[in-house]
This record gives sequence, structure tokens and C-alpha cells, in this order.
Amino acid sequence: MSHASMDAFALDAFIESIDCTTVADGVHHCTAFSGVTAFETEAGLVLVDTGLRAVAGEIARMLREKTDAPIHTAIYTHGHMDHAFGLEAYLKDDQEPPTVIGHEAIEDRFDRYELTAGHNDSINSRQFGGTAEDDGQQPGFGWPAQPPTTTYEDALTVEVGELTFELQHGRGETDDHTWLYCPERDVVCSGDFVITVAPNAGNPQKVQRYPTEWAEELRKILAVEPGTLCPGHGEPIVDDPDAIATQLRTGAEYLDTIVDRTIELLNDGAPPHVDIVTEIELPEPDEPWLQEVYDTGEFIVRNVIRRYGGWWSGRPSELKPAPRGDLAAEIVRLAGGVDRVLDRVETLTAEDELRRACHLADFALEATPNNEQVRTVVVDVYERRAERADDLMSKNIYASAGAYASEGRRFR
Ligand SMILES: [Zn+2]
Repeated sequence: MSHASMDAFALDAFIESIDCTTVADGVHHCTAFSGVTAFETEAGLVLVDTGLRAVAGEIARMLREKTDAPIHTAIYTHGHMDHAFGLEAYLKDDQEPPTVIGHEAIEDRFDRYELTAGHNDSINSRQFGGTAEDDGQQPGFGWPAQPPTTTYEDALTVEVGELTFELQHGRGETDDHTWLYCPERDVVCSGDFVITVAPNAGNPQKVQRYPTEWAEELRKILAVEPGTLCPGHGEPIVDDPDAIATQLRTGAEYLDTIVDRTIELLNDGAPPHVDIVTEIELPEPDEPWLQEVYDTGEFIVRNVIRRYGGWWSGRPSELKPAPRGDLAAEIVRLAGGVDRVLDRVETLTAEDELRRACHLADFALEATPNNEQVRTVVVDVYERRAERADDLMSKNIYASAGAYASEGRRFR
């Protein structure tokens, strides 16, 4: 997420919402968008994740009200910016440099962030509803200031003071994920295997997610039967193994159902991707922790299709397509002019047929990008679509589409 979009993403609200709870003897969990867990040991603190860099200082201040011990070890559950980029804020001036642990794939992630910094800036701007800066000079996140000093492959057991930390690698939201169990405190830190809303296993703009392995990992956490769970996002579940088990089990079932149904359709003639996502029957879970308010099942289907197939959509004309501007001009010509297209967009919008309305709106804009009236209608339809969307991914991408159109800029 760029600095520009971070501002738009209500940092103040995160800071106001910071909550630090003691979840077990000497174990404190703080949430401000993402979770940070601190374990007190005789040797110093073990910190699991660090929060967004912009709010880490405030989290550290609250944590310091509970304990003044130096950071002995930091563990990154994965390399996302809301987990692995805030460690400096917790370090004491006079302390020894901490041991920093992550899965070995975290290093490739940071390299990739450097390689595609401009791209990441644009897609993160869209993911949070904004537009990328024209100069393309927004800082992309490459390596954190405190990179891992120790990496591991499959599993790693670390002893710090009187506590043991059993780290397990698994793939889920990312390929570099770690979750851990501390047996002496009966606490699991799940990383983003648990985010207290429907899993972010479909994110439309990001690299491959792993819903199958995600479900497997949830079952491995379940097998540990932890008493307390500190999630990557959301409130901790304290001293309630049954509630934890239910959440883990239903989460795994949700993912398995989507994956199984998608593969079934792929195996039945490999239809065009859009036919799969519009025809598949998706689960509609009632559980509060599976609400599709961030990501959504339709996007998880897309991730499964991508994983087992190629980039081609399955529609013959899209194998080697005409430039979109040319195609849009043909559609507008067939309609009898752009005014006719706009009329239809407005009718469909009024009827809340927004999927169709947006296709026509795109054609109108692509055929006549500098037409003020077209831009106004396009902004309206995408603002309406953003308003109607339940999941934040869609809501913000639609808001971003509206913002680009109102600035008269190509959606890029
Ligand atoms: Zn996260």
C-alpha cells in the first residue's frame, strides 16, 4: 500500500482502535488492523509480528505499559507490510540486536517487492480505493529495515528463556507463512491462517494463494488443540478451545468446498473462466468469522482456476484479442452511438444490474475516453457498485475505477 493510499486508509482509526490484552501469563496480544503478540520470557520478549510500520510506534507504547523488557526474538509470520515492517519501533536504544526469524521464502518475497515496486504501488493503491501517483515514484516495499537473521524450511523449535516456540511452515495466504505454538502458555499465533473474516485466498491483484494447503494447515492447528489463539487479524480467542476448534474446522470446510466445486467444473470440459465463476454454487456461511467482508468466494474460485490452468480465459476471441479501444468502438457503433450506450448503462444501473452496466460503461469509456458525459456516467456506475459491494477487495477496486475515471485517467 502506498503512502498516499495509507493516508486514505484511516491510520488514525487504527491508532484509536489499538487494543492490548493479556491473553495468558505474560502473553500480550495487541491489534491495530493486524495483530502483534508479545511473550515475556526470562531472556526478554519474543515478539510475533510487528504491525503496520505507521502504527507500530503506538502499539509499542501500549505494550511498554505492560513490560519494559528488550526484544530478544522477533518472528514474522509472513512478509506482508502489516506484519514484517515495524520492528524498529519496539527495540530499546541500549539493547542487543534481536534474533529475527522467518520462513526461508520470505526473502524471495522481499526481492520480488523490490523487482516490482512500481507495480505493487499501483495495485495496492487500487486495493485500497485510490489511484497511483503519476510519477510512479511512490516507495514500494522492498526489504524491511530488520530482515530475518534466521530462516527455516519446514519446522523450527526455538527456546527463549523458559518458553518453547514450535514454528510450522505452511502455505495459505502466502507461500512464506509461519504459525507457532507455545506449549507452556498453550497459545497459538496463527498468522493470517486465521483473520476472523473469510480467508483472503482470492485477492484479485496478487500472486497465487493456496486455499487447499490453507485448509490443511487449519486442521494441523486444530490438532494441537490450543486453549488460546492470537490471529493475524481480529480479536484473540482466550481460553476457549471449543470456540477455536469450531472456527478452524468451519474455515477449512469453507475453503475445501470452494476448491472442490471449482475443480469439479474444471474437470467437466474446462469451460471459459467466466462461466465457472458465474455458474458455480458458492457457500454462504452464517458464521461471523467467515463473512466475506474482505475477500470473497468468487475470487477464490479464480485463484483455483489460475493455479491449475493457463492465463487464457477460455473465450476464443480472447486468445489473441483486438485492442480494447477498437472493440469498444465496434460496440458503440453497433449501439448507434455512445449516447445510446450511456442510456442503457443508466437504465441497468437504476435496475441494479450492475455487472452488465459496468461492462457497457467500460466500453463507452474506452471508445471515448475524453468525453465528459461518459466519464460522469462511468463514475456514477462505479460509485454505485462500490457502495453495493460487500467485500472490501471489490468495493475498493470499484472506488478506484471511479476515481481514475473522474480524474480522466486511464485505469492503469
Ligand atoms: Zn495480514
